[in-house]
Amino acid sequence: MRDVALVTGSSRGIGAAVAEALAREGWDLCINYIEQREKAEALAARLRALGRRVLVRQADVADRAAVDAMVREIEAELGPVTLLVNNAGIARQMQIQDISAEDWQRMFQVNLGGCFHCVQAVLPHMLHVHAGCIVNISSIWGCHGASCESAYSSTKHAIVGLTRSLAAELAPSGIRVNAVAPGVIDTDMIQVLGQETLEQLAREIPLGRLGRPEEIAQAVVYLARASYTTGQVLTVDGGFMP
Ligand code: NAP
Repeated sequence: MRDVALVTGSSRGIGAAVAEALAREGWDLCINYIEQREKAEALAARLRALGRRVLVRQADVADRAAVDAMVREIEAELGPVTLLVNNAGIARQMQIQDISAEDWQRMFQVNLGGCFHCVQAVLPHMLHVHAGCIVNISSIWGCHGASCESAYSSTKHAIVGLTRSLAAELAPSGIRVNAVAPGVIDTDMIQVLGQETLEQLAREIPLGRLGRPEEIAQAVVYLARASYTTGQVLTVDGGFMP
């Protein structure tokens, strides 16, 4: 049986780089997106050219029924998911007094609820075969606080808690759970900060530049292969955080 990965939010950015790196390493995979079908399809075409079987599937990870339907379709088309990468996420910088209840809930439903839904959907098979790997994408703001990031940072801290708890719970079942905590990575998500702020951030990062999505993908591939590593949070931030 071939390895099958589900990478949530993989139409662009970090998720797309993770999907590409996994495809190059031999994984068949599902590219998941919420809106940008064309980008997902273009990536799928490139990865199929590498000889991989690739399913493109729209699903809002905050929607449990949609996630369940997506995972059932992956099982039918590609086989059971052996690697889950919980990457889909949203971010918005806001001062605490400006965050509406809806903003707060949506942030949690996508960033944390999405992990919960996907884990529950793929777990029955992993438990059955006593093997599997889950990599959650947290953030440096899941390990440190930052101004105007209270909602986002709370979700990313929660992902670290989820990772460590699941690692303890699922290790006896042969399932490894780890997280990657990216620093400032050059994707659409951070463009809202503006060029000046991004250049300032780059100067503050010891390696002197923003990270590239491919550099997060390297860490995901490492954790996917690291057969004796579980419950870890791997920071990939160019030395930004002390
Ligand atoms: P991005 O460029 O904004 O891309 C987001 C991806 O997630 C897209 O593929 C998007 O699909 C998908 N997505 C968004 N909401 C979704 C939902 N509800 N259901 C399914 N898919 C959804 O983001 P990124 O920078 O690559 O970030 C990826 C992950 O890394 C996120 O969890 C983010 O918090 C984390 N991270 C990023 C950075 C950074 O500096 N960039 C740093 C630390 C952590 P569409 O294309 O269809 O919209």
